[in-house]
Amino acid sequence: MSMAKACVLVAPNRIETWDVPIFDPPAGGALVRIVAGGVCGSDVHIASGDAGVMPFPIILGHEGVGRVERLGLGVETDYAGVPVKVGDLVYWAPIALCHRCHSCTVLEETPCENSQFFEHADKPNWGSYADFAVLPNGLAFFRVPDGTSTDAVIALGCALPTVLRGFDRCGQIRMGDSVVVQGAGPVGLSAVLVAKLSGAREIIVIDSHENRLSVARALGATAVVSLADSAEERRRQIYDRVSPHGPDVVIEAAGVLQAFPEGVDITGNHGRYIILGLWGAIGTQPIQPRELSTKNLTIAGASFPKPKHYHEALQMAARLQHEVPLAALVTHRFGIAGAAAALDATAKGQVIKAIIDPEMA
Ligand SMILES: [Zn+2]
Ligand SMILES: [Zn+2]
Repeated sequence: MSMAKACVLVAPNRIETWDVPIFDPPAGGALVRIVAGGVCGSDVHIASGDAGVMPFPIILGHEGVGRVERLGLGVETDYAGVPVKVGDLVYWAPIALCHRCHSCTVLEETPCENSQFFEHADKPNWGSYADFAVLPNGLAFFRVPDGTSTDAVIALGCALPTVLRGFDRCGQIRMGDSVVVQGAGPVGLSAVLVAKLSGAREIIVIDSHENRLSVARALGATAVVSLADSAEERRRQIYDRVSPHGPDVVIEAAGVLQAFPEGVDITGNHGRYIILGLWGAIGTQPIQPRELSTKNLTIAGASFPKPKHYHEALQMAARLQHEVPLAALVTHRFGIAGAAAALDATAKGQVIKAIIDPEMA
């Protein structure tokens, strides 16, 4: 059996490059050669152990674009019915659903109670920090429309699907809404993009990194607020800009626990506070529950995009790539052996988006 490279998380903070077998695709599945593996903020939390115990050793990476190398028995189309053949580029929804649990079947909701997003590194694997991925039967993948830049698709990785999932679950942004986004990483930037497309009146982004804030402006933010200012000053700037009633929608895309009490405080009367980034940040924070009553607040959260959100994100990237500088959001590239450096640069906010490019040494 021939071998290929993969980045394996052996234990928290222990990353190694392994030679792993290239498996045949199972019936109903596909073998893809990875073109780009997206480095996600969640990967930082997974690698450090902050996101909880994982079934080590695992191949990292849950965002990928790859070229079909071989199709499993019976596969003629992608999961939206589009014909697919060897050599086509595909993008996949990395969370395997069981299709036989209460969430999957009765509620038609995610997370599936048996969600599987990692597989043991010795087994056929769809981790994307690798030369190859085996997409098992049932893992939805979609053909990348012709002429779509790989970077434009991977730039918003799982972030845009997460945002689409969040609005699907917690209510859409309406024309004329005033919106505040906490955090200008890929999730926050995706929220800016969707808010702009939805006709938001104001889109105000909070972050500490000047490079990210300028990208937020390029994607449609109407104002930015720096974390270098005090929380009180940030609130004043937001309310001055929006109205004394405060913002209609606040989106947590910071992935930092301290964002939560500030988000509750900022959200305006009758507003919605949508939690998207705290998946990997385990812990507690104090808030004044009374504010939920006095301001008539809704606080809602969502995670685990459904296959349809990946499909929608892919179509958006294909459609918007020429009017929005999506591909330019990929600012850093690393080889498989450079995964630790990629995670470090992502953790420090030095990148807008980093990717693993297996062709690089
Ligand atoms: Zn992710
Ligand atoms: Zn299920």
